[in-house]
This record gives sequence, C-alpha cells and structure tokens, in this order.
Amino acid sequence: MPTTLASSVACTGVGLHSGAEVKLTLVPEGEGDRGRYFVRTDLQDAVIIPAQVSQVGETVLSTELVSAAGAEQGTVRTVEHLLAALVSHGVEAVRIEVDGPELPLLDGSAQGWSQAIATAGVTTISSAPQHRPILSEPHWIYDGDAFVAALPSPTLRFSYGIEFKEAPIGKQWHSWTPVDFGANGDDFLHAIGKARTFGLARQIEQLRQAGLIRGGTLENALVCDEERWLNPPLRFENEPVRHKILDLVGDLSLIGTIPQAHYVAFKASHRLHVALAKAIAKRLQ
Ligand SMILES: [Zn+2]
Repeated sequence: MPTTLASSVACTGVGLHSGAEVKLTLVPEGEGDRGRYFVRTDLQDAVIIPAQVSQVGETVLSTELVSAAGAEQGTVRTVEHLLAALVSHGVEAVRIEVDGPELPLLDGSAQGWSQAIATAGVTTISSAPQHRPILSEPHWIYDGDAFVAALPSPTLRFSYGIEFKEAPIGKQWHSWTPVDFGANGDDFLHAIGKARTFGLARQIEQLRQAGLIRGGTLENALVCDEERWLNPPLRFENEPVRHKILDLVGDLSLIGTIPQAHYVAFKASHRLHVALAKAIAKRLQ
C-alpha cells in the first residue's frame, strides 16, 4: 500500500437516499495496512468499515458496505463515486470518516471527490513499488442479457453498453483506456469522473414512495422522460454510459488494486459489478 493523502480534507453534502446532511473527512493513513476504510464517527466506538468486496451489503441503486461485525454494527452506502475517484488518483490507503449512513451525493458525479483529493494531495508511504496484478483468465457474470466480464488484456480498459427505451438515452457504448491509471487523476476526471448519475422520471415517484432518493433533486442527477432531458445541458453526449463506467470502477476498487484486464459490461448493475469483483478477488487470493 504505497500511497495515501498528503493532508486531510473535509466536505459536507446530502445523501441521495436518506436526504440527510453528512460530513465526510478524508484523513491520511500513516501505516497503510488497512487500505481504504470508512469510520462511522457518529456511532459509539467509531465503527470501522473496510472498503473491501467481502463487506458488501445491499446493491440496490448504490453500493452499501457493512462493518466486519455485521450490519447492525454499522453500514455506509453510496460509496462507489468516492472510491472510484480514490482508486483512479492512486490513493491506496485512506481513513474516510463519515457521520452518517450515506455519503454525500454532491453533484451526482465524482468531480467534487477528485477536486478534494487534488486539494489534499497524494503522497507515498513506502518505496515498495505499486504492483498491479495481471488477470490471466476470463471471468464473467451474467443475468439474462445483462453481463459484466473481465478479459485478459495488454492494457487496463473499461467498455460499457446500455440500452433504454427512453429516446434521450437510447443505445450508448463507451470504451475508456485510462492514461496512467492510479497516478494521474486528471484523465479520470475529464473522461469519466465528471459524468453524473441519471434517472428516469417515470421511476422517481415510485422510488420516493419506497423511501428512497429523498435527497435526489434536478441538481444532483440527470433526469429524462420518454422524449427529453428535464435538466440539460449534458456534460457529454453519452454522459449516462460514462457514469456507468464510473460506477464500475468504484465497485471494482473493492478488490483493492484493480487487476489489469479489459472490463466489458452490458446493461449491468451494482449487483453484477460486485459479483465480478468477488469472483476476481477470490481468484487472486
Ligand atoms: Zn453512480
């Protein structure tokens, strides 16, 4: 675990599902052996929740992690955008203090997290070279026509396809070969990190009634109906599929260091992303 943050940085915002305001502080991790982990500072005994694939709880609409002692001890959800920014900027070890059960959604993208990491700076803990495992055999998870796969590849690459009957989204495909992944966060921010989460107007009322997305507004998610975007302009013509790559990178970060492979997904979800991360983590053990 050779890198952490050079200084602490704090940020406040509203959780997408809870609607509650939360404060989050990224704190340098001197030792590094714990990797990336959350601390629920609002709970008694400051419950520790490792950002590891073994700790995943719910995966409906966002990824939730549970403490090693179980969900009743503490959980934290919507972790994927921050984790994608940390892994892309090469932050291998960090203590993430949060005073509630859900991370701030910010503007629905990882832009604010990238900026916070850039403000804090990244520093090397030890001189041991960072080692990226190379995937030697394919892994794949599917559910109906949705799938996510990891294929052996000479470079790290992420490709994603989505298909919606809503015309504003329609069929989208994006492929991203990061430049200097895990060291240069600029490339991540400009290609993927800025892409915001998106939703369908027809689902929003349903989700609200189910007690979800209470913090969702037109300021923190792109929303479309059958014909148009309700809150343009978009940051990219294919912003939704780029956001799916952001989610995939965040979920794969739960492996630790993301192995070199070509990750290919079609109509996948946090549940499938996490299942693939589990299969790869098991293989690497
Ligand atoms: Zn997302």
